[in-house]
Amino acid sequence: MITLKEALNLSKEDLNKFKKELKNKIEENKELNAYIDVNSQGDGVPIAIKDNIQVKEWSVTSGSKILQGYIAPYNATVIEKMLEAGLSPFGRVNMDEFAMGSTTESSFYGKTQNPHASERVPGGSSGGSAAAVGAGLAIAALGSDTGGSIRQPAAFCGIVGMKPTYGRVSRYGLGAYASSLDQIGPMTQNVEDAAILYDIISGSDPKDSTNAMRDEKVTPNLDSTRKLRVAVLPKYIENASQDVKNAYAKAIEALKNAGHEIVEKEMMDAKYDISAYYITATAEATTNLARYDGIRYGNRVEGKNLEETYYKTRSEGFGDEVKRRILLGNFVLSSGYYEAYYVKAQKTRHIIKDEYAKIFEDVDLILSPVAPTVAPKFGELANPMDMYLSDLYTISVNLAGLPALSLPIMKNSDGLPVGLQLIASAYDEQTLFDGALSLEREVAYN
Ligand code: GLN
Repeated sequence: MITLKEALNLSKEDLNKFKKELKNKIEENKELNAYIDVNSQGDGVPIAIKDNIQVKEWSVTSGSKILQGYIAPYNATVIEKMLEAGLSPFGRVNMDEFAMGSTTESSFYGKTQNPHASERVPGGSSGGSAAAVGAGLAIAALGSDTGGSIRQPAAFCGIVGMKPTYGRVSRYGLGAYASSLDQIGPMTQNVEDAAILYDIISGSDPKDSTNAMRDEKVTPNLDSTRKLRVAVLPKYIENASQDVKNAYAKAIEALKNAGHEIVEKEMMDAKYDISAYYITATAEATTNLARYDGIRYGNRVEGKNLEETYYKTRSEGFGDEVKRRILLGNFVLSSGYYEAYYVKAQKTRHIIKDEYAKIFEDVDLILSPVAPTVAPKFGELANPMDMYLSDLYTISVNLAGLPALSLPIMKNSDGLPVGLQLIASAYDEQTLFDGALSLEREVAYN
């Protein structure tokens, strides 16, 4: 598959030829179920779009039954920025319903396969994006990351996935899951393409009140020769599988070989991250999902009166995982429990942020696992608690609002990709990409 960098230099003719071939290839690999829909009308470089990002006049459903029939009335800001840069949306890709999940098994459209092993999940929630790029069915894709949904599927599918600093990329036109955590980001074949796509979609946007209104670009200064101080976390990685530990050791060697300095640090037990995350995320999700009432958007199931219409629409429209989180979110926000759960979670969030800040006083980057294992088999994370616990290495980054990039390090003995992530301090995407480029070259995964 050609890279994004190469595709940006293709003539119009070659690009059109490429798109026709791509469409055929997607058709031939239908059983992967990465794409929900292919729409090749635009004339720019084709990019796959997660089904929670609005493209004007396209269906957009967040992988949910409740949004069937809903047509986006406007472009998300990231789509506008893509169009200006000569890129065009090329099909919607599969995801967990409302981005809640780690496997893409909760989609209304059925599950997506991992391109490296058809009996395994591609990760989630941006599993369609990762599978499409990993299978050579997309040059690049957009995903969204609330608690790891870009980085974890990227790691499972052997591609690069990057979550920007909170506020770097406009959320205007992104279906909200947990608004204080959500960020759109690039999912690509390599680090340089991720930097290119990140530069295109990031930047100020007055339409998003949480946007950081900053427009620095990374590609003009991309430099893999900078010598950096990188923190490693010997205790923190103890809960990871042997495959992940092997990759971690390989990455440390690679970083040393590239001339970076390794510094040992510690982080608090990730069990607090998981509690703080699932309280915060479900509380915000409950509020965000209140708008799906059968009146304003998409699917409606008529009842005898307005209340019954709400009830029936939501009962039939939402899947089990979404309902579970609405219940959980309402519980943690209810009077009597609000202080004990929600307020406590916000305090924990501060502690996590401070903990990262302290580490970054001394280092430029942190090397961390992305997931505790390689891609699990379908059904392996069917118990919701197991699924939540598997997010232990990604969610603190969102709680602290930091940028992080997941990249493939090696394959295990079964040929399954193992990815790791680098984490940088807020707004230091430059160092993140510089370090990732250096690590990518040294590990030579491809
Ligand atoms: N797996 C996490 C969750 O289910 C993260 C999902 C995401 O980043 N959208 O909430």
